[in-house]
Amino acid sequence: MKKKEFAVIGLGRFGGSVCRTLSEQGMEVLAIDINEDRVNEYASIASHAVVADSTDEAVLKSLGIRNFDHVIVAIGDNIQASILTTLILKELGVEKITVKATNDYHEKVLKKIGADQIVHPERDMGERIAHNIISNNVLDYLELSDRHSIVEIVANDRLHGHSLLELDIRAKYGINIVAIKRDNDIIVSPLASEIIHKGDILIVIGADVDIDRFENQVV
Ligand code: ATP
Ligand code: ATP
Ligand code: CA
Repeated sequence: MKKKEFAVIGLGRFGGSVCRTLSEQGMEVLAIDINEDRVNEYASIASHAVVADSTDEAVLKSLGIRNFDHVIVAIGDNIQASILTTLILKELGVEKITVKATNDYHEKVLKKIGADQIVHPERDMGERIAHNIISNNVLDYLELSDRHSIVEIVANDRLHGHSLLELDIRAKYGINIVAIKRDNDIIVSPLASEIIHKGDILIVIGADVDIDRFENQVV
């Protein structure tokens, strides 16, 4: 299978981190920024790094951007440049475009012009940290829809020594434990007979209201 090729436009903290992580995972990454210092910073990290203004269609064309499997637009503060870049990528027929949105209006426009994925790193990280602050037992949190999530919850002594069947979690709370992390092991799709230990990390999927009920009543 051909290696996937990525391009990251905008090498601020977010774009830079995306670029670095993709590269660390062995992906082919073209790093693009209008700022030469930023590009130099990533020259040794990404497969290729070029100084370019992504709002210039001719420049993007000459980079062969159309042939990349996935382009990430990480221009934050300059909303106009972000929108124009996304529009050009779309018109050039890029297969998949992910864009960082700065606010709800920005997101609306990006949706209209056909961005495939829109991310709000500051907002999403804020939500995750808030969940973690409210409940010490919640380690991480992934929003699936505005009403459903996947949450990592640490099992306390009230759960210790009981099986999923005894606790009857799905029937009582309507949530599913999809996996249990214990030390360095992970038990995927645990059986009803699986006994929970204190300190296990339960990976739970369900409606937010049901997960909240479980957290409040049991954990
Ligand atoms: P952070 O992720 O650090 O919060 P940000 O997204 O707020 O960053 P910005 O400085 O607004 O950061 O933009 C990210 C990068 O996008 C900058 O390095 C900037 O030089 C680059 N950039 C802005 N406009 C363009 C453009 N037209 N073409 C290419 N790169 C651009
Ligand atoms: P259900 O009655 O929910 O259809 P089932 O008939 O498939 O379950 P089991 O799989 O034996 O029965 O599970 C019995 C009960 O144990 C379930 O009703 C549920 O409350 C609990 N349970 C089992 N596995 C899980 C899980 N992964 N997550 C949450 N609860 C579970
Ligand atoms: Ca910023």
